[in-house]
Amino acid sequence: MARLVVLGGGVAGHTAATFAAKWLGSEHEVVVVTPNAKWNWIPSNIWVGVGEMSKEDVTFDLAPVYQKAGINYKQAKAVSINPEGKEGSDKPFVTVEFTGQGKVGETEEVQYDYLINATGPKLNFAATPGLGDANGLGEFTVSVCTADHAVHANEEFQKTIEKMKKGERQKFLIGTGHGMCTCQGAAFEYIFNIEHELRKAGVRDMADLQWISNESFLGDFGVGGLHMKAMGFAVSSRIFAESLFAERNVEWTIGAHVNKVEKGKAHYELLDGSMGEHEFDFAMLIPPFAGVGIKAYDKAGEDITATVFAPNGFMKVDANYAAGAYENWKASDWPRTYQNPTYKNMFAAGIAFAPPHGISKPMSSPNGTPINPTPPRTGMPSGIIGKAVAHSVCDLMTKGESAHLHEASMAEMGAACVASAGKGIFTGTAAAMTIYPVVPDFEKYPGTGRDTDYTFGEIGLAGHWIKHILHHLFIYKAKLNPGWTLIPE
Ligand SMILES: Cc1cc2nc3c(=O)[nH]c(=O)nc-3n(C[C@H](O)[C@H](O)[C@H](O)COP(=O)(O)OP(=O)(O)OC[C@H]3O[C@@H](n4cnc5c(N)ncnc54)[C@H](O)[C@@H]3O)c2cc1C
Repeated sequence: MARLVVLGGGVAGHTAATFAAKWLGSEHEVVVVTPNAKWNWIPSNIWVGVGEMSKEDVTFDLAPVYQKAGINYKQAKAVSINPEGKEGSDKPFVTVEFTGQGKVGETEEVQYDYLINATGPKLNFAATPGLGDANGLGEFTVSVCTADHAVHANEEFQKTIEKMKKGERQKFLIGTGHGMCTCQGAAFEYIFNIEHELRKAGVRDMADLQWISNESFLGDFGVGGLHMKAMGFAVSSRIFAESLFAERNVEWTIGAHVNKVEKGKAHYELLDGSMGEHEFDFAMLIPPFAGVGIKAYDKAGEDITATVFAPNGFMKVDANYAAGAYENWKASDWPRTYQNPTYKNMFAAGIAFAPPHGISKPMSSPNGTPINPTPPRTGMPSGIIGKAVAHSVCDLMTKGESAHLHEASMAEMGAACVASAGKGIFTGTAAAMTIYPVVPDFEKYPGTGRDTDYTFGEIGLAGHWIKHILHHLFIYKAKLNPGWTLIPE
């Protein structure tokens, strides 16, 4: 019997672990190490953050699901990896620290034959003074990155509505909280859901909505923008986004690195080197992401973190990390198997893998401050990669070390993204977009880098219904209800 240890029970890790448990059966063991007691469908946190859903609507307990799947669940966080074992034993292991199951603070060495690192992002609020500190989110802004954050965001949001009802004008600042953020899509959804709720509450005329983002143009979304087929034309996402912002009366500041947040004020530097500030009564600024800070040690106990992880803390995989300048970037730089190049029994999936470089063009201000989106690894690619990696590991475990590895390059993968712009059965809207491939391939698709036949977008009520149905489908699937394997990632 061999053991697969999956670190992280989020989109990528949960997908990998549940498929591996199904494919391996009882002949091998699957262990999930994750600090959270509940699974969270993160995309719906947007709706929690405006009071349209509760925390219970977007989360469920992991323990019964893992029990049903025959997965050994450790509610703990991985602290370090010893891929060569330690003195006296060649067996690789992970050191974990419990966060639940009555063992909070206790540590354990969990041995593995294969390891999948799917630990997602560290929400690095501390990168921007005032946005947060070492403990996480600061006191001046809110976040929708976790279900608890979103509950708090809604409490603060409701207070602003009360103030507006009493005649007090309110300023909203929403976007990215640093020059090197990803996840612009989440902030985009949040600002338009806020706008929608303000209209519903009858206080839209009392609110000033301000977008701030590190994108060099509206609609970049961290993928360098896209050209979408709409009404027979290939329309740039920039035109699409600018029209939406204008239509809903949302001001925008782009190419911005938020460098300091104070009570009611955010300071920023722009791509042209100028400095500015926005005042706010309510601010939701996405933090930059980093790896979760797992250390690695060799057999002698020497620190080999820099061998296993990139400087940003994400795990090195089979990517070309030496691509250099933007002009040299190629679709083939992107990883295919997500296998660690040094330790072949380790893989990374979802946000936890180190991308070779950005997708959006790198930019910096004349002061040398880098200001550009970092590459997103959204839900669909994270799930697809998690499943492909699980497939590879299962084959290695059952067929031997020469088994063929499964591939899931983001430069050959499409993704569908449905960005909510307001919730409501009859009044809701969402921008439904498909993009192929996620990472543009300018050799294969000269001009836009993407296949415009498969890259399209549409905003409307139907998009909202799709988003709502997906919410239920993905939670149904994650709970391993009957037929769960038939629902795509
Ligand atoms: C507000 C918001 C809205 C979004 N909306 C969309 C959307 O509409 N569509 C879309 O496609 N994507 C969306 N995304 C992105 C999507 O949530 C991510 O792509 C996806 O969650 C990434 O999956 P992951 O498994 O890599 O990371 P996660 O889902 O974050 O999972 C990581 C897991 O690892 C665990 N972990 C952390 N540290 C450790 C450790 N040391 N040891 C073990 N486990 C650890 C975490 O607790 C977590 O369970 C959104 C993101 C946000 C923040």
